[in-house]
Amino acid sequence: MASNQQSSASATPQRSVDATEPETALETARRQLERATAHLEIDEAVLERLKHPTKVHEVSVPLEREDGSVEVFTGYRAQHDSVRGPYKGGLRYHPEVTRDECVGLSMWMTWKCAVMDLPFGGAKGGVVVDPKSLTGDEKERLTRRFTQEIRGAIGPTKDIPAPDMGTDPATMAWLMDAYSMQEGETIPGVVTGKPPVVGGSYGREEAPGRSVAIVTRETCDYYGYPLEDTTVAVQGFGSVGANAARLLEEWGATVVAVSDVNGAIHDPDGIDVDAIPSHDEEPEAVTSYAAEASDVARITNAELLELDVDVLVPAAVGNVITADNADDVAADIVVEGANGPTTFAADTILDERGVHVVPDILANAGGVTVSYFEWLQDINRRTWSLERVHEELEAEMTEAWSAVRDEVERRDLSWRDAAYVVALSRVAEAHDARGLWP
Ligand code: GLU
Repeated sequence: MASNQQSSASATPQRSVDATEPETALETARRQLERATAHLEIDEAVLERLKHPTKVHEVSVPLEREDGSVEVFTGYRAQHDSVRGPYKGGLRYHPEVTRDECVGLSMWMTWKCAVMDLPFGGAKGGVVVDPKSLTGDEKERLTRRFTQEIRGAIGPTKDIPAPDMGTDPATMAWLMDAYSMQEGETIPGVVTGKPPVVGGSYGREEAPGRSVAIVTRETCDYYGYPLEDTTVAVQGFGSVGANAARLLEEWGATVVAVSDVNGAIHDPDGIDVDAIPSHDEEPEAVTSYAAEASDVARITNAELLELDVDVLVPAAVGNVITADNADDVAADIVVEGANGPTTFAADTILDERGVHVVPDILANAGGVTVSYFEWLQDINRRTWSLERVHEELEAEMTEAWSAVRDEVERRDLSWRDAAYVVALSRVAEAHDARGLWP
């Protein structure tokens, strides 16, 4: 979410913070890349290539509204890097989608896939539209026409979209159908995050939240916080936040606060998160639950971020932890469920304060990892059981978490820089091996 906050550099003059906020996702991604490269020997030419997307497709998407009028929306597909495999990443329907946001998010997908050692590159796309303003039929027509406009750029071995903010399994089924109808054959592997009945994977929807929970569990264990004694605040109750909260509660943690777009609820004794529908099950149900439950206090989303908890999971939108509130974050560990919830300036402040920030490119990577499982299932025309998905996700997540922890220890880095070092070394090595064509 774009923030109107001004730089607070004057409030923290003693710090080495380049706090020129608000930041776009692209600015944050570039600054993170620059900071991480200081820890690696990377060919300057390769680094220069990685600062830029390979291609950005911009399309116009005309849509006939229910009243017969025609409105034209702008859509993007940013393709950052494909040295390790086809471009991969979500599609976002949101009024604040911009070209730069797609590019920044596509860079994060490159690192996310590399940190997980998946044979994919990074992409991200979206349409500048408020999905709440569309009827179901309008959303379907918009998706089909957007698919047609980017059809030449996507494909199961080229670029494979997936859900992101404002899109869901139904959206992916329409995309798959539109693509397949035009190609003249059913091609489930063109997109992931589909409903299982058309080649989607079991466990895909819950996967980003599950990976956030796994990474939280590992990190708590590493820093000596037994889950039974650990308090957690989760911002956002969509598929990431709700699934992370439910699993962490199941594994023994006490979830003391959760939120939706209208506000947050807080109970130091723990909230029964299973009793609250996720955003996908019933939009904005957290605050309506608060109206019914007498034992929870209503607080704001901003107050949730400053609660004195062991673990804070920002799992709503980007840029919520900024230079203005980073000093007030009281959690010891931040696990990023959303993409880009922490600005570069805030990251520096948290690091200087000794707060461990486990980055999005590791924490929520369960989504793209199960997307990879889905793609394999589509290619092989063979369904995996939910049990197998859970087992393989657990193995992939703990392996990636361990690889990052090794760099944290070996080079004395923050978790974000360590994740970048793991990802960047793999991507840079692949560029080195393939060379520059022609
Ligand atoms: N949109 C998700 C992400 O940000 C999933 C991407 C995918 O599965 O390709 O990681």
